[in-house]
Amino acid sequence: MVKQKNDRFRDFLSEQNHTWKLSADNYRGLDLVEEKLFHFDGFIIKVQFNPERMRSSTAKVDQGSIAARKCFLCHENRPEVQNSRNLPHDFLLLVNPFPIFKTHFTIPSIHHVPQRLAGNLEAMFTIARQMEGFQLFYNGPECGASAPDHLHFQAGETGFLPVESEFLSLRQNTDTLIFRSATTKIWAIDHYLRKMISIETESQEQGIQLIEEILSRFGEIQPGKVEPMVNLLCTFKEGKWILHLFPRKLHRPTQYFAEGNDQLLISPASVDLGGVFITPRREDFEKITASDIAGIFDQVTIDENVLRKLKETVKNYRSI
Ligand SMILES: [Zn+2]
Repeated sequence: MVKQKNDRFRDFLSEQNHTWKLSADNYRGLDLVEEKLFHFDGFIIKVQFNPERMRSSTAKVDQGSIAARKCFLCHENRPEVQNSRNLPHDFLLLVNPFPIFKTHFTIPSIHHVPQRLAGNLEAMFTIARQMEGFQLFYNGPECGASAPDHLHFQAGETGFLPVESEFLSLRQNTDTLIFRSATTKIWAIDHYLRKMISIETESQEQGIQLIEEILSRFGEIQPGKVEPMVNLLCTFKEGKWILHLFPRKLHRPTQYFAEGNDQLLISPASVDLGGVFITPRREDFEKITASDIAGIFDQVTIDENVLRKLKETVKNYRSI
């Protein structure tokens, strides 16, 4: 059953690449993408040199720039050759022509509405269940979404992001478990360079309620934002959803804006927080160090104090 579902999505990619040369070339190019590994205490970070991601990493997402360009996720501006499939909740499946994953989809709403999690968690849960075998992810409007004006998720095959397997060992540390009900468990992971809140649930309803509680508390801590700054990963496997939430405090690190040799053109989003740093420039791929990686996570993700407040919210949660 699951295999058939996966095949359906992979067949869609193959069909698309028969008719869209740009996309086919970029998927073939993935075979040549270079990667290297950094080993930390109990986990790794992969670094991928992927020049086709330049437009995404350097996307101008300020209001003026967004207003001045045609939205590339709206039907009327998409290339004619780009096909789509319908997904629940008025979302569409599109092949991402600038892939990081071997199978990489963009999942926009059919409506041109702003990128927001509020009101769209149910869609995320439903689509993740339908796309078992894929990692669904959401980049907040100030956390790496290159179309902050058009609601969308992305998806890539599971097994690519290190966080998936590392979580299974990180959660063995019993101190990390902060919530348990009949259907749901939540862990807060601290010693992972970036703070992470992980949720495993058999109940869509309770999963959504808990994420909304966390986001609501985080919104109080981070007033004045269009929404609390987060990246969110979501998979469905064997009757359970697993989500990894990365609360953020900054969009891009100082290295992004530095000049000359100090510059590192890295704009962290879900994939980077999941353990794969994307470097569109060869020079950055070659010079990046373990200490740069730690420094970038430190700048863009929340500190101990904020994690403690979010943990308290989860611990005090009582289902209605
Ligand atoms: Zn649009």
